[in-house]
Amino acid sequence: MFNTIEKLFIQLLEKHGVDRYQWPYLAVIKIQEEVGELAQVYLKYNLGDLSQKEKIRQELADVIFAVQGMARYFDCDLIREMEATIRRAQSK
Ligand SMILES: [Mg+2]
Repeated sequence: MFNTIEKLFIQLLEKHGVDRYQWPYLAVIKIQEEVGELAQVYLKYNLGDLSQKEKIRQELADVIFAVQGMARYFDCDLIREMEATIRRAQSK
């Protein structure tokens, strides 16, 4: 699945004419944008608009998409890094 996300992210970069040196900059802005959208829909949900639940799911996936875009630039295997995070948390 992450390979597909990577390919889509590369297409997004090409669509916007972003070169490799600007890639992390675009990715970090995209992460901020998607986290902001997630916060917006969550706040609506938290205020009682239960119809936002599906939108929350979609925004969570958008966040992961953006994070994967940045991870790819840094040759970061997110699954391996998340496993390491779990091990660190378990050892505390
Ligand atoms: Mg979004």
